[in-house]
Amino acid sequence: MWQVVGQSRVVSLLQHSLERGTLAHAYLLIGPAHVGKMTLALNLAQALNCEASQPPCGECASCQKITSGKHADVQIIGLTSNGNSAEAKPRAEISIDQIRQMQHSASLPPFEGRYKVFIVDGAERLSHEAANCLLKTLEEPIGKIIFILLATNERLLPPTVVSRCQRLELPPLAATEVEAALHSSWGSEPQKAKLLARLSHGCLGWAISAATDDGLLQQHTQQLDRLLDIINADYEERFAYAAHLAAQFSQNRAWVQEILDLWLDWWRDLLLIKVGCNDTITNIDRSAILTEMARGYNLAQIKVFINNIQAAGEQLRLNANPQLVLETLMLSIPGKRGGVGEIPLPNLR
Ligand SMILES: [Zn+2]
Repeated sequence: MWQVVGQSRVVSLLQHSLERGTLAHAYLLIGPAHVGKMTLALNLAQALNCEASQPPCGECASCQKITSGKHADVQIIGLTSNGNSAEAKPRAEISIDQIRQMQHSASLPPFEGRYKVFIVDGAERLSHEAANCLLKTLEEPIGKIIFILLATNERLLPPTVVSRCQRLELPPLAATEVEAALHSSWGSEPQKAKLLARLSHGCLGWAISAATDDGLLQQHTQQLDRLLDIINADYEERFAYAAHLAAQFSQNRAWVQEILDLWLDWWRDLLLIKVGCNDTITNIDRSAILTEMARGYNLAQIKVFINNIQAAGEQLRLNANPQLVLETLMLSIPGKRGGVGEIPLPNLR
């Protein structure tokens, strides 16, 4: 049984190819972080090597070895793995050496299973040389070997690599699917399952992590409290907040983008409440504060600020000066009645 939750379209396509023996030699799984790409890739590796009559069974020796990362014919190549467990520090990119090691391993017959499966996790982080090296392998399919590339953003992959793979898209799950899975498989309380499902934006992996590790939800709460402080703060405090985020940006871009997503969620919630769609908000545990806050703004103010948050995210992705981008964003927080005044966003381009 396939363990990946949702994704029935992709699963039935793979199941069909398995039954007919028409699998591609390389797949590219595209989808947001924590949506289930790795689970699906491991499931496919299990299906190819399973000893039961209805693969993947998840229970035979082969399936269990794959689950625990101990199957000799299933390898994961990524930022934290290079075949050398002594190296704990994550790499900045997947190197050509990692791909060469993979190619050497691919040249040997399966050791204990029927298929060799190589999963390249975070394929958008392949170095230029590594991608070119991998391309040669993808251009010359070898029997009984399947490559599965996982990526959140295929635009960062060379088109030549993308064109050699069968592309499968894993969309975010519906909030109801995440909620049901948390409730039935991870025993979450109904209210918590509902909140995590909304906060996860359809990425079950994040929701499961948050369901099993209270620290994640605590962090979220703290970051949201800080956001509310900043909305009501004076310019000096907003600038200090912008400087703090900008300082973090050089070390952890993803974290700053997450904070911006938090801001976006909050202001989208205000917009949804403003137009009467209270049932679809993300921060369901704060609906009273949101409703109260929404009264202080008009619709146009909220829309403009949402655009500003999105523009700031895009400018950071395009390597604009983070301090300037974030300070400008903080200055553009719309003024509530009696609050800090609204200042138009200067053009950074
Ligand atoms: Zn099995």
